[in-house]
Amino acid sequence: MRIAIISDIHANLEALEAVYEFIDGQSIDRILCLGDVVGYGPDPSRCLELIQERCEVVVAGNHEHAVLGLLDLDYFNPVARHATHWTRDALTEAELNVLRSWPLTHVEEKLTLVHGSLDQPDLFDYIQTSWEAHLSFQQLKTPVAFIGHSHVPITFMLTDVVDYSQEDRMQLDPGAQAIVNVGSVGQPRDGNPDSSVVIFEPETGNVERHRVPYDIQTVQAKILESGLPDFLAHRLADGR
Ligand code: ZN
Repeated sequence: MRIAIISDIHANLEALEAVYEFIDGQSIDRILCLGDVVGYGPDPSRCLELIQERCEVVVAGNHEHAVLGLLDLDYFNPVARHATHWTRDALTEAELNVLRSWPLTHVEEKLTLVHGSLDQPDLFDYIQTSWEAHLSFQQLKTPVAFIGHSHVPITFMLTDVVDYSQEDRMQLDPGAQAIVNVGSVGQPRDGNPDSSVVIFEPETGNVERHRVPYDIQTVQAKILESGLPDFLAHRLADGR
């Protein structure tokens, strides 16, 4: 079984199409999505449609909750707030109902999915330190959890202590739990502008992270034409 896990598409259609094309060449059995399908980018409806077509499970991100009015926009900086209002206006009631149907967490025998953190999924905290990972490990009932939200790929492992790795290829230790941040499809922030996607094989514990280039200039032009903040276009090029 080969499972592709994607996150933080942020209405970036060119990035999502490039990632799907990559996935098509990887003998993938299932695609799972960790939320923030919309927000920031210029193609929320089309991205939502493509995610519904191909992702077996989707959990909600903070941008979905913001668009739905379930999250206080005071948490957002002015750019994110502007993008949230823009996105809400761009979506139909039926599309908003799709976002509303997504759960905050998804748990199956071998894996857990959550956008931010497991200790309080509705608050969308970040897991960036060993302590923050520890709080989620306390709630984790499966061998591995996949998360997004920070747009920075990293893997935390729980043995006697919480350790972390930024390796792109790892074999998870069957005796230790792990939390894998899969990075972002539509707005990477680790200095690499290419889309990030993770492939997981539950039988072997293999986790591979891949980076997929896409047509950034087309997305930038769409953002600049759309009335979304210019900053959102510029940041795509440097992956910050
Ligand atoms: Zn995000």
